[in-house]
Amino acid sequence: MKVRFVIMDKDNIFHNTSREPQLKAIFLDRDGVINYDPGDYTRNLREFTILPTVMKSLKVLKDRGFVFVLITNQGGIAKGIYGHEEVREIHTYLQKVCEDNGTPILDIYYSPHHETTGLSLTRKPGSMMVERAVARYNIDPKKSWMVGDKQRDLDSAAALGVPGVLIAPNDPLEDYLDKLI
Ligand SMILES: [Mg+2]
Repeated sequence: MKVRFVIMDKDNIFHNTSREPQLKAIFLDRDGVINYDPGDYTRNLREFTILPTVMKSLKVLKDRGFVFVLITNQGGIAKGIYGHEEVREIHTYLQKVCEDNGTPILDIYYSPHHETTGLSLTRKPGSMMVERAVARYNIDPKKSWMVGDKQRDLDSAAALGVPGVLIAPNDPLEDYLDKLI
């Protein structure tokens, strides 16, 4: 059996595959980017309100050839504030709205961890969620963007060479479309 050894750093993470990276993605933080963030947690579907310009912005970005991947910290699970069920209910709803909009989300990654109960490489600024998406969907990091309202959102993707756009929490996504090309 032939064994190949691969050094997994940001420059040659793709050398373990013969496929050239194909997709360009917008990695989206959730709270404060997709939905209104009151400043603490979005506990359930009743508290989940999609911001006004998100859906039309996704249409513009889809027309530019991007796919969408949601990357969200949900440390409220580790803290016992809400559970996986509530998060899944929100994400099922969000996916339905996005599909109806003609802009389906390729995949949704959430980290249920919080440093008060235990460390995880998935929790942003850890890069594990973005790494999984890039590897699974053959995404080209350099042609992709991370959009978040916290520096740790951007840091989680910068580890793979994905550039970031930092927005103010709850700002209209529409206002940042000029940068996402
Ligand atoms: Mg956020």
